[in-house]
Amino acid sequence: VASLDSTASPDVRRQNLSLALAAALWHGPLSQASIATLTGLAPNTVSRLVTDLKARNLLTELGQEARDGVGRRGTLVGVAGQSVGGLGLEVSTDRLAVSLVDLTGGIAFERQRRVNNRSRSVSRTLDDLARLGRQALDWAEAAGMRLAGVTVAAPGLVDEPGHLVFAPNLGWADVHLVAEISERLGNDRGLSIQADNEANLAAVAEYWHGPGRDWGDYVLVSGEVGVGAGIVIDGRLFRANCGFGGEFGHLPVVPDGPPCPCGSRGCLERVSGLPAILAAAGLDADPGQRDAAIKLLTAAAGSGDAAAIAALDQAGRWLGTALSSIINLLAPQTITLGGVFGPLADWLAPAIWSEIEERAFVARFYRPQLVVSELGAVGAVRGAGWTSLRRVCEDPTLVPVDRSTGLSRASSA
Ligand SMILES: [Zn+2]
Repeated sequence: VASLDSTASPDVRRQNLSLALAAALWHGPLSQASIATLTGLAPNTVSRLVTDLKARNLLTELGQEARDGVGRRGTLVGVAGQSVGGLGLEVSTDRLAVSLVDLTGGIAFERQRRVNNRSRSVSRTLDDLARLGRQALDWAEAAGMRLAGVTVAAPGLVDEPGHLVFAPNLGWADVHLVAEISERLGNDRGLSIQADNEANLAAVAEYWHGPGRDWGDYVLVSGEVGVGAGIVIDGRLFRANCGFGGEFGHLPVVPDGPPCPCGSRGCLERVSGLPAILAAAGLDADPGQRDAAIKLLTAAAGSGDAAAIAALDQAGRWLGTALSSIINLLAPQTITLGGVFGPLADWLAPAIWSEIEERAFVARFYRPQLVVSELGAVGAVRGAGWTSLRRVCEDPTLVPVDRSTGLSRASSA
């Protein structure tokens, strides 16, 4: 392997390895000839790249190609399951979650804990999150899975270095998530750790291992206690300045509306987040007990309860008003309803459409589609895991060639 592509510079080699791995990831299992066609690389180069990726346990042989007329049958290669994992951790207002995912889209280990983090200290919450993370790391170690990295999802503004600047619904400000989690994980393994906004991660999850690649440009609107959005344009997350884009829940929709912990008033999430819907429906349910609250709400609306139906209709109208701005601004092909908006979509969608038809003139000239997230509540934590793996897709040499029988981890270099 040391002599691989000795004529190519390390950068070109890394780029070619990344191209070949991406071809297998998106189109595999496939033959080396198909990789050459997809990547535009010479067959000899592809052969060497595949040998290298197999030595790193990133690709594996998956049988023979079906014979079509003349010519030799090629060996099919695809991404190897469970050779490399990405760890996602999520802190949310009402839960802590961990997901260990692999390159095939498989979920190796997943746990979540319902807990009201709004009434607890930052330090205790992060202690518990790290404890979940260590369970996953132990699982990976026992299974011989190498770790590409860790990504922490949080409900607030996270700047590029992984610092949580402000999370209004948690009441957290200025928390160095990456440093705090690294210390708590006892990160002597040199794992690469990053952090991002939960709605951003939920949006990329749909692209990586959901139907997102068929959606064109899309905006995933995620409802919980707060409301967030992830914007994917040309297959890439729109991060905006410092990664602060996508604060959809704080679009002002009611000029003199209720005050918001963000400091403004009449923000979308104050009138269409789960607590607002429950209050308007007159239901005595704790929004922190998300699943129970949704069950109560859908049962009431399903049985024709006028207050519940009116509350959902009103929330849909505010959502439709805010989405009209998004459509006039970005003209996305798809709007995806995620989080609690998924199970409530049957009641929200008619009101959303009615506002869009009235307010988004741009939508009269193309047909945006409104769909429901397939991943739902696990989207953010899985998106965090897959984001951890993206480093390896961009630079497969981060995973060392497997020369030993023992466990070796992805280098953080
Ligand atoms: Zn606000």
